[in-house]
Amino acid sequence: MSELAFFIDYSRCIGCRSCVQACEECDTHRGTSMIHLETIERRNTVQTAPQMCMHCEDPICARVCPADAIKQTPDGVTQSSLKPRCIGCENCVMSCPFGVPKYEASIDQMMKCDYCYDRTSTGKKPMCATVCPSQALTFATREEVERTRRGRAINEWKFGDEIVRTKVFVLVPLATERIDVGLTALRTKKNGPEARVPSDDVAALLENEVLP
Ligand code: SF4
Ligand code: SF4
Repeated sequence: MSELAFFIDYSRCIGCRSCVQACEECDTHRGTSMIHLETIERRNTVQTAPQMCMHCEDPICARVCPADAIKQTPDGVTQSSLKPRCIGCENCVMSCPFGVPKYEASIDQMMKCDYCYDRTSTGKKPMCATVCPSQALTFATREEVERTRRGRAINEWKFGDEIVRTKVFVLVPLATERIDVGLTALRTKKNGPEARVPSDDVAALLENEVLP
């Protein structure tokens, strides 16, 4: 049987916050959600997008951690920080291209999504995927997802000159090979009106329906 994987279909997100609530209820992080619901270009659209750790194949958060507090499992899940090791320096917070790790001042430690590893390592869905009513968050085989959705699943991102591959997949229109986040344009035009405009690929993700 094919491996189970996590898929995000941003075009299906209805902003209900069920994923955030479900994550908050998990005992291991006591009331703090590890999935964040972002708003996209609020002046132009009500579209929301769930952001969880994408579990990069080569996680920069772990590479920049001076305390070796972020470990990656053999099956590619980047864990949250280890309490005895984390020194709260926030290197990981600043380095993550997806803006995922959050520093929790109350416990002086970085916390982030760990793929509900206690569940997913035994074939169970992560908490967020169990409650998402529109299946914007799906834990399934790639075959199942591609059979039931019109788009394709990819896991390759371009941030400026850097290519990042992730364990988590996103659903995109069929013609999209990788997602170009367009950081170069954002950096060079950061004071102009274009600074807040997402790249064509990111806009296409949100505007093109990938619903069956
Ligand atoms: S998305 Fe961010 S926090 Fe998650 S593995 Fe990649 S660099 Fe680390
Ligand atoms: S905040 Fe903690 S986990 Fe993050 S880089 Fe610093 S020591 Fe490592």
